[in-house]
Amino acid sequence: MRRRLIWLVLIVPLTLLGIGGGAVLSIPAIRHLISGLWNLPDQLPALSGNSQVHYQAGAEEYADKVAALLPGAILQIEAVHGRRFAHPVTVGVYETADAFAVANGLGSAVPVGVTFAGRVNLSPKLFWPQRQRLRGILTHELSHAHIQGWIGAMAYVRLPNWFKEGLAVMVSGGGGAEAVTKEEAWAAIHRGEKIVIDEAGSFRNLTEVRLEIAPSDRPSWYPVVLAYRQAGLFVDYLRESDGPAFDRMMNAILDGRTFAEAVSVGYRDDVRSLWQKFNVSSNGRT
Ligand SMILES: [Zn+2]
Repeated sequence: MRRRLIWLVLIVPLTLLGIGGGAVLSIPAIRHLISGLWNLPDQLPALSGNSQVHYQAGAEEYADKVAALLPGAILQIEAVHGRRFAHPVTVGVYETADAFAVANGLGSAVPVGVTFAGRVNLSPKLFWPQRQRLRGILTHELSHAHIQGWIGAMAYVRLPNWFKEGLAVMVSGGGGAEAVTKEEAWAAIHRGEKIVIDEAGSFRNLTEVRLEIAPSDRPSWYPVVLAYRQAGLFVDYLRESDGPAFDRMMNAILDGRTFAEAVSVGYRDDVRSLWQKFNVSSNGRT
């Protein structure tokens, strides 16, 4: 653990500086990353009934609620990802937006859940006022943490964002994409407002799922959630259309293979061809 932390503290910022230099990987981004590493939820007290759940003072009732949902969420991830967790994941539960922001590696209280350095961080908004999203967001974030636990930060960054988010949305029954319906997502695909299917991720874009054409006259959150919903539909299609292929792909990903290799091992096809098949699938309405 200590070696991994040292690696994160030293190498990641240096790598970001070396590769970045652009607008995305700015000095504030590195400051937020270091702030997150400095404020990992491990340092907070853990529930006596569940040592995985750590909470800020005042959030004990919220933490109890998370602990009650955790076993079911873990089982769901392990069933769909096809493997147990590499190690128990720490979940940080926050009472204040400020404490959540300094711990989540983004320096922002806008997202409701963030997985950072293998830890799941949950916003106070999920206790109130968005408590109906708690189960979905917890499961979504555990999907990210599960993969990070097996393959580490570098290999995780190299997986395409659309796949990581689509998998997390799919496995959580729509967590993170609640505000855009499947019908809206399909209609957008048919208008050409569809996600870009990259074969790999990079340090230049750590989080965004890009759209070929962004919808106009929409609030700023809308393209983000639209992209998540589309990615979730595509990953759901991948699993539903060929379960054994999906399982082979997941196994290869969790073994640390590149995404392109894992798709090839699973489907004996490439992902852009699978995306075309999804676009004309029976689910796709014109
Ligand atoms: Zn996510």
